[in-house]
Amino acid sequence: MVDYDVIIVGGGAAGLTSAIYTVRAGLSTLLVEKELFGGQIALTEGIENYPGFESIQGKDLVDKILAQAKKQGVKTKVGNVQSITTKGKEKIVEIDNEKVSTRAIVLAVGSTPRKLDVVGREEFDGKGVHYCVMCDGPLYKDRVCAIIGGGDAAIKESLSLAKIAKKVFVIHRREGLRAEKRWQDLALATKNIEFIWNSEVRGFFGEKFLDSIKIFNSKTNKESVLELSAVFTYIGHVPNTKSFDFKKDARGYFVVDKSYQTSEEGVFAAGDCVAGNHTQIATSVGAGAAAGMSVINYLHLKE
Ligand code: NDP
Repeated sequence: MVDYDVIIVGGGAAGLTSAIYTVRAGLSTLLVEKELFGGQIALTEGIENYPGFESIQGKDLVDKILAQAKKQGVKTKVGNVQSITTKGKEKIVEIDNEKVSTRAIVLAVGSTPRKLDVVGREEFDGKGVHYCVMCDGPLYKDRVCAIIGGGDAAIKESLSLAKIAKKVFVIHRREGLRAEKRWQDLALATKNIEFIWNSEVRGFFGEKFLDSIKIFNSKTNKESVLELSAVFTYIGHVPNTKSFDFKKDARGYFVVDKSYQTSEEGVFAAGDCVAGNHTQIATSVGAGAAAGMSVINYLHLKE
């Protein structure tokens, strides 16, 4: 007798959706989340591309999905999954040294913001170097700040930061932005946002807290110093797959088959930890639903 039919690891968009599907199929479902239910959605402001909501705050969307999952009967637990092992037909999930058994698993462990590997970055992490405007932006009211990156996250967050900070520099390594045109146009038209093109941040400096950064311009081959109070880095993500020994691609993303099964039978994966997910809430929800359906089929075939 196993503790749960299904254990879902990760409480973001993909994990929550898988859990809603499996619990509604009558499978006892435990959802384990390390720290923040909702994952990346919870850290996102105004979402305007999730069908059904013209505009919704990430936190509000998470509250709705989490409440729905719990109402359907999903059990939740806050804890860190350290390992997964197979014992006959059972899989043993070690959560903070407690062993819980299950028949199937969905890994929806997401990804973490990529950090720059330059002088001073580690020293000033949390002391001027940050990764979430919504969380830490309010600390820098009326100060000079910078955003690094040119994707959707960087440009959207520069708009949020511009409402708090006196001035926002967007430092981007090329001359073209990757972000959706709508966000680009808004940022380019915002008076207190200034773009620094073709530039890489080469170092973070200060006494106790960050007070300046060194920038290298790849067009002029010149270095310069920019005085500021905080830098928010939005240069993509790395998958949270290190603890799990299933097949991955060269960048560390899980490789899954058409049914979202990993290289291990009965272990499925969905969302931002899987290669090619497109990192959208809608694609994570879709993948979570598909993985949940696959778990249901897999367990029914086993009966
Ligand atoms: P992206 O991978 O889209 O963009 C990362 C940005 O960081 C790029 O501009 C890239 O430059 C730059 N970059 C990467 N590595 C470095 C480095 N080492 N040094 C300096 N710059 C670097 O990541 P995002 O987090 O912005 O977005 C991830 C996904 O999430 C995307 O699919 C995006 O569309 C989606 N998203 C959607 C939102 C929405 O509201 N629709 C909001 C936020 C994210 P370069 O362009 O030169 O490669």
